[in-house]
Amino acid sequence: MRGHVLFKVLISALLTGLLMLSAAVSADTAVESVGWPDVSFDQAVPTLESVLGYAPGERITSIDQAHTYLRALASALPERTRMVEYARSWEGRPLVYFLVGTEETMARVDDIKAGMQALADPAELSDERVESLIDELPAVVWLAYGVHGNEISSTDAGLQTAYHMLAAWGAPFDTIRENTLVAIDPSQNPDGRERFLNHFRETYGIAPSTSAIAAERREPWPAGRTNHYLFDLNRDWLPLTQPEVIGRVATFQEFFPLVHVDIHEMGTDSSYFFPPPAQPFNPHYVDAQEEMLDAYGRNNAKWFDRFGFEYFTQAVYDAYYPGYGDSWPAFHGSVGMTFEMASARGLAGERRNGEIVTYADGVQRHLITSVGTIETASSNREAFLSNFVEYRRSADAGEHGGPREYLIPLAGDASAVHKLASNLVRHGIGIRRTTEAGSACDRDMPEGSYLVSSRQPAGRMVRTFLEQESPMAEDFLAEQERRRALGLRAELYDILGWSLPSLYNVEVQACDRVSIDAEVFDGSGVPAYAEPAASQVGWLVPWGTQAAGRFLAAAQRTELNVQGADEVMTISGRRYERGTLVVRIADNPQRDADELHMMVSHLAEMSGAEVVATDTSYSEEGVSFGSSSVMSLPAPRIALAWDDPTTSYSAGNTRFVLERQYGYPVEPVRVEHLPADELDRFDVVILPDGGNYASALGERGVDRLKEWVGRGGVLVAMSGGMRFVAQDDVGLLPTDLERLADGKPEGDHEGDVVDGTQLEDQDAYQSAILPEAPRPDSIPGVLLRTKTTTDTWLSAGVSDGVAFMVEGRDVYRPLTLDEGWNALYFEAPDNIEAGGHLWAENKAQWAFKPAVVQASYGDGIVIGFVADPTFRAALDGANVVFLNAVLRGPGHTARLR
Ligand SMILES: [Zn+2]
Repeated sequence: MRGHVLFKVLISALLTGLLMLSAAVSADTAVESVGWPDVSFDQAVPTLESVLGYAPGERITSIDQAHTYLRALASALPERTRMVEYARSWEGRPLVYFLVGTEETMARVDDIKAGMQALADPAELSDERVESLIDELPAVVWLAYGVHGNEISSTDAGLQTAYHMLAAWGAPFDTIRENTLVAIDPSQNPDGRERFLNHFRETYGIAPSTSAIAAERREPWPAGRTNHYLFDLNRDWLPLTQPEVIGRVATFQEFFPLVHVDIHEMGTDSSYFFPPPAQPFNPHYVDAQEEMLDAYGRNNAKWFDRFGFEYFTQAVYDAYYPGYGDSWPAFHGSVGMTFEMASARGLAGERRNGEIVTYADGVQRHLITSVGTIETASSNREAFLSNFVEYRRSADAGEHGGPREYLIPLAGDASAVHKLASNLVRHGIGIRRTTEAGSACDRDMPEGSYLVSSRQPAGRMVRTFLEQESPMAEDFLAEQERRRALGLRAELYDILGWSLPSLYNVEVQACDRVSIDAEVFDGSGVPAYAEPAASQVGWLVPWGTQAAGRFLAAAQRTELNVQGADEVMTISGRRYERGTLVVRIADNPQRDADELHMMVSHLAEMSGAEVVATDTSYSEEGVSFGSSSVMSLPAPRIALAWDDPTTSYSAGNTRFVLERQYGYPVEPVRVEHLPADELDRFDVVILPDGGNYASALGERGVDRLKEWVGRGGVLVAMSGGMRFVAQDDVGLLPTDLERLADGKPEGDHEGDVVDGTQLEDQDAYQSAILPEAPRPDSIPGVLLRTKTTTDTWLSAGVSDGVAFMVEGRDVYRPLTLDEGWNALYFEAPDNIEAGGHLWAENKAQWAFKPAVVQASYGDGIVIGFVADPTFRAALDGANVVFLNAVLRGPGHTARLR
């Protein structure tokens, strides 16, 4: 089998190489060889080959080529297609969806949108109207390909699906065409796909290298999976930070498709996955959705069985985290699905057993499940439309239980409160803003606070986003405890905690009875900025908000001389907490008072920060401006460790947070270049999560980094970066990783023979096989709450602690008072959970352990974050501490400037 296919690939490639020197990569593995029996094709519809010059599956189609082909289809059949750009990637590439249907269906696309939007709010409709809409609307099927850019075959499958829906005659196409509207998104992540393709073109020769270690099949850092800022776009459906996903979420709410399929690739040694998904399910799925998933799975299985293809279901890929492309649609009443094909990761890849998986195999399998999905939606159109209506009606009626309302008081960080409210609007959640001051459930609600009812069509989404935990099924949890007791990994695919209030550090309170006047909030008109008054002395900016972070970043970029107070001040009767920014006219002699006022006003408007004019620098209580606790905060030059061994998510997301959320540029520097002389030009070096920094830097590099810190540098290390600086042989941070508390101690194994024992019973045997000196069990991603040490500037702006997303097993011992500060440390066991389920023994061991530490090293400072504050750019609360580290840290060292 292997020899035969390889031979074919080789011969084809030889011919291609000899005859078509200018051609890109290709293999003799076209798709049309297996297809539906008795299907013929309309010759008027352009084939891929007629437009792009190669058969489906022969080459890896680029974004431009994909759009060229879709445009060719659109111009051949304008009355049966429509191509719409819905977003632009960071690198400026258009993201499109391509609609296909019959002429009759396409003529009423706008009516179909309006009809689905009407069904999405069934309380507003009469029963007759619901019935007639169900009668007349097609099943809208959304097929979204290639969210991970190096999962390549799906884009070509999307093109073939479009072609088949337009050109194929015979079963099943004649029927499914009649009552569906199909949207094809050929590439949800064009920047990632092009990154993969560049790498592939650069490494390809005259024939596919099929080895698992061949250069063309092993991408350099960062792989094409992620977008420009190295985000996993299939996790961004909850935080909504990336333009690609923001565009999709908006488009979804125009059409409310009955099914949204996210089409992927997995390891070369696998087969094919389609639903039903694995346990655990998010508890806000309803039975009808599980039944629909089953129906889709069975129909795909029917075709795979007919063609003799392997597949698996109900394993690995679960439906718990609501921020996937296959889960988010469920909370609007649709179903979402993931399909996964064994990847060729190139044109052809070799399995461990010697079999070859080709790119064309992926195109073909994905084409079959795409069509199978359309077929299922088509033949169940009425039932699935009814299920959609019923999901939204029952949520609106509150049949999912839970509190009626969630209060979001306009308190704490107002900019974070508004951001949370605007984010919920983007998700399609109905939200109201109060037009009077009031109170509910003993909570003060200033005017401009927000109310979110769980009694709305997206009510289940409201609950899973805002509640601290969406409980997993008891039997599933029990099974995981059983596995853990045996030292096996828990069967969880992603994080367990995602509560938006914890991520944003915004107070949200459940409440059943609210009577405060409020109006619908549509996401616009957020009160952002009050123009600061003129002053003869200067202005104060209270710290601890997202807006103040943007203000500081912008002030530093414009070379405004800004100071930060490390202590509490009371000025003109108002108390200012630690961290307040001070812009003094006397400190900015290059500008007169009017000019400075204009500049400060502009920064206030741009950032949304509260800026308070003061005509005195006298503090009635606490420090005055001239105190040594009021530090100058010069603009730092920031290097961000890049490339191997950093984790690309962590490096990319950190860059995104600083650049796009706060507006401050960073310079990525490859780890291998950090030891260069130019390092001295930087004030801050960030080490994101990563693998073995020590070996990547080498002994000389580590010494160079230490010398740089010793002369006044600020080194900010997170998760894997922190593991590196805490290593004994590196010695930059005086803490240590902990073993599992109460774990089995290390035994004495000197020599080849040990003392004999008698194992009296099964229990004694069980304890004899326990591993010695184990590390704590790994946490899959849970939000943990912290407490604040108020004696260090590093925690300025954070009075009650913030939540961190903890993954893994890195529990550190606290720093002693002579070693440094535990600026934030985890809460007591009964209060540590801020989102998601935590294993009991982890709760006990993580309590009171450090979350953020700082220690002096020579004239410099080393800051360690146990967990990434920039995780998925979603932890706005924790980012206040991160900004302290990178933007305020250099003001606290004796640096050369
Ligand atoms: Zn994927």
